[in-house]
Amino acid sequence: KQKYNICKGEKIMYVELKNINKSYNSYKASDNINFGIKKGKLVALLGPSGSGKSTILRMIAGLENPDDGHILIDKKIVNDIPASKRGIGFVFQNYALFRYMTVYDNIAFGLKIAKWKKNDIKKRVKELLELVNLEELGKRYPSELSGGQKQRVAFARALAPNPELLLLDEPFAAIDAKVRQELRNWLRKTIDKVGITSIFVTHDQEEAIEVADEIIVTNNGKVEQIGTPREIYGNPETPFTAEFMGQPIKVENINKFRGFHHLRNGLKAVVRPENVRILKNGEYFKYSVSIEEGIVEDILFRGKEVEIRVKIHGEVIKGLRRLEDFSIEKGEKVNVFIYSAYTYENNNKIIIVENDNVKSIDFVL
Ligand code: ADP
Ligand code: MG
Repeated sequence: KQKYNICKGEKIMYVELKNINKSYNSYKASDNINFGIKKGKLVALLGPSGSGKSTILRMIAGLENPDDGHILIDKKIVNDIPASKRGIGFVFQNYALFRYMTVYDNIAFGLKIAKWKKNDIKKRVKELLELVNLEELGKRYPSELSGGQKQRVAFARALAPNPELLLLDEPFAAIDAKVRQELRNWLRKTIDKVGITSIFVTHDQEEAIEVADEIIVTNNGKVEQIGTPREIYGNPETPFTAEFMGQPIKVENINKFRGFHHLRNGLKAVVRPENVRILKNGEYFKYSVSIEEGIVEDILFRGKEVEIRVKIHGEVIKGLRRLEDFSIEKGEKVNVFIYSAYTYENNNKIIIVENDNVKSIDFVL
């Protein structure tokens, strides 16, 4: 049997992927994946559809085998251990509940297979129904539940046999926006309560930011960046992450903008709307000496705020204003100030550059 020795000084990871590759025919779904997850953490795999998130999750679960590389759980290589013996709970996007079983029987299913005693099963299912706030619904069938309730049953079923690791693949993707928001908070609290190491897949950056301790950004079968939500959002390291996070707009030449003239001509950047100030003509502003004029090209109503797109130096910059302040019209001349931009360095790195006229950082996440 293979043995894995942890080097002295190396941080101990509960789940570890080492040089994992996986191809479907000639398509590389995982391209040399490396990361580690500490015990008790809730980690998000975040990336666009097709970037290889589910493939990673399924390999950890043992539902798929890597072509090469090692997967370690609790310091043991698990490559050859079948899914059923890995001690993992799995929650799927489509619930995958047993349609002809009640909520109670769905949750009890794995325990019966594991030959738990009848009384222990009863006790455990009761515990779980309480945990997921479905005490009253044990006798219902999946068809009699809402999407959010179904997903809580799936969650309870996954947790029933006391797994050491919980994997969730886009658990809320099929649920409507309002409930999804509530479920996120619920998931975070419940996972904290149970204290289980969890990895969840999502393509929704807000979901990852709100729920995860740490985010692993995936792109094109590769790990693009790993960090806390603050790090990933505030300090994207690569063009991909900079373009993926937030609602940025890409600028072909940031050097044309006031406060950024010191940068090299032709330097590309992304600018986030929260780092842009759009002002009506004559409106008071702290840095009014360094504003510049643009023309409003488009206005989008976004509920509590409006997004204003301004044509300036042949490029489009967007910023947000509160609805109450909204008196700007299409075609109007407005003033624009860019606080900071994420610039594209030659080595495929991103660097935040502040407007030369701002001495202190105004941008607080
Ligand atoms: P994600 O979960 O990020 O959307 P996946 O891991 O499901 O991405 O898929 C990554 C890539 O691998 C996609 O291009 C997908 O079409 C391909 N892929 C995934 N599973 C299979 C499979 N069983 N057979 C062939 N191609 C697959
Ligand atoms: Mg997927």
